[in-house]
Amino acid sequence: KILDLTAGDLLREVAAAEPDRAALIARAPGRPAQVWTYTELLADAEKAAQWLLTRFRPGEHVTVWAPNVPEWILLQYGAALAGLVLVTANPALRAGELEYVLRQSKSVGIAYSDSFRGTDMAAIAEQVREKLPQVREAIRFETWYAEIQAFDGPAQPLPDVEPTAAAQLQYTSGTTGFPKGALLHHRGLITAAAYVHERAQFPRHGVWATALPLFHTAACGMSVLGTATSHGTIVICQLFDPTLVLTALQEHRADLYAGVPAMMLGLLAHPEFDSFDLSSVKVTISGGDAVPPELVREAERRFRARFSTVYGQTELSPIIAQTSPDDTLEDKCGTVGRPLPNVEISVVEPGGEEPVAIGAQGEICARGYQAMLGYFDMPEQTAETIDAHGWVHTGDLGVLDERGYLRVTGRIKDMIIRGGENIYPREIEAVLADHPRVASAVVVGVPDQQWGEIVAAIITPTDPANPPTGQELHGLVRSRLAPAKAPRDWYLAGQLPTNAMGKLQKFLLRERITEQALDRLP
Ligand code: ATP
Repeated sequence: KILDLTAGDLLREVAAAEPDRAALIARAPGRPAQVWTYTELLADAEKAAQWLLTRFRPGEHVTVWAPNVPEWILLQYGAALAGLVLVTANPALRAGELEYVLRQSKSVGIAYSDSFRGTDMAAIAEQVREKLPQVREAIRFETWYAEIQAFDGPAQPLPDVEPTAAAQLQYTSGTTGFPKGALLHHRGLITAAAYVHERAQFPRHGVWATALPLFHTAACGMSVLGTATSHGTIVICQLFDPTLVLTALQEHRADLYAGVPAMMLGLLAHPEFDSFDLSSVKVTISGGDAVPPELVREAERRFRARFSTVYGQTELSPIIAQTSPDDTLEDKCGTVGRPLPNVEISVVEPGGEEPVAIGAQGEICARGYQAMLGYFDMPEQTAETIDAHGWVHTGDLGVLDERGYLRVTGRIKDMIIRGGENIYPREIEAVLADHPRVASAVVVGVPDQQWGEIVAAIITPTDPANPPTGQELHGLVRSRLAPAKAPRDWYLAGQLPTNAMGKLQKFLLRERITEQALDRLP
């Protein structure tokens, strides 16, 4: 059944079945919660669709550039009903990056919030718009809600939208630096979201709370559309503020909390974590980045809830594998679980198409409804990513075991090639993290005349006043791994560069090393 729905159909269906149930709750610091029932959400989405259709034609691209405000979701459903493609831009983008997204996506409209984290977004949006005549219309979220309520134009018939029609264009570049727009369709987004909810054992009519940024499919797809498939309630927090999130979890009796590892750690580090009543939380979900085993254990212990790891990428709408809350702690710590329903996963020779043996490392490929339609307007990059048999090559390295559990072991782009030898940073990072005075370690390859690349490690010490020495850490790696894997250069991390999802941007660390902008370890 979920195969035949667009996001608009889904909302209509749930509104008919659950008219008075809370569909959306929006939380922002210092403000009371705003609540929409399914009836109210559908009514507002229909008004939004009518408003949009007086300005845009079905199939056109409209960019949304805003933090987690409720208007974002009204626009999401309104655009779905109107057959528009929503280009979801990260609110942390700078002017030049926003301009690139608007231009490359061929957007004819932009919706924005006035400000976010001290940035005057309205000024930037208007300044960028002046440069791009293609952008005909601006939607200012601060006044838009009143505008759609006041709309009294003649109602137009809403277009028929196919489940396989493009719904969202999301630029992926947070961690590797090269922005490509993954074009995703309704069916892929809805099935991915529904299967994640099923695997997480999310209860029917449950409450899902998150501060994941809406521009990412993990939020607007997995979280928002997913709760609709469960006839539940989505609680969105305007930004990741641990107090705000913990308050939302407590006050709305959330069944589930979803966040990238940084958002999980951020909550657990809250000084008053234990004084919040989180007894309603049954499951916590994390992923989007390597999930440290200590985090799984710590989350299960402190939330008194079961943990579920998700793995995927934007190009796959986004989740393709997940652990079940029923899995053993060992599987939850060491793997990303089994493929979701209707997703095929294969591990192949990196750069090739031939599957490797069970238990061997290779590139993770996936196939199924969730695959993107392609990178928008980038046929070459699309052909490099989706092969002739429909497999999406993720660029991630992994291992499948005989039970079908997947382990993610690194990224091909992060792989270091030192004198022809392939070195996988994650293995070295794990050894370094075992040192008692190392809080975290990041390993990258940096260009070198003699070796092509050499291994460098960036260390965050547990006590900045007493960091371990490079020599000491070198000895530790040499005692456990082959000599070629021992980092040659050692640096102190300072502030690690992360994207809006809280994910580490290794390419920026490499740049900092080449620019000699990092301090060396003693
Ligand atoms: P880019 O793809 O350009 O680096 P991004 O990181 O912002 O940008 P996403 O599509 O959100 O884009 O990230 C997906 C990537 O995150 C995966 O390809 C994988 O490398 C990593 N990832 C996601 N989930 C996990 C997980 N559970 N364990 C390890 N890595 C993960």
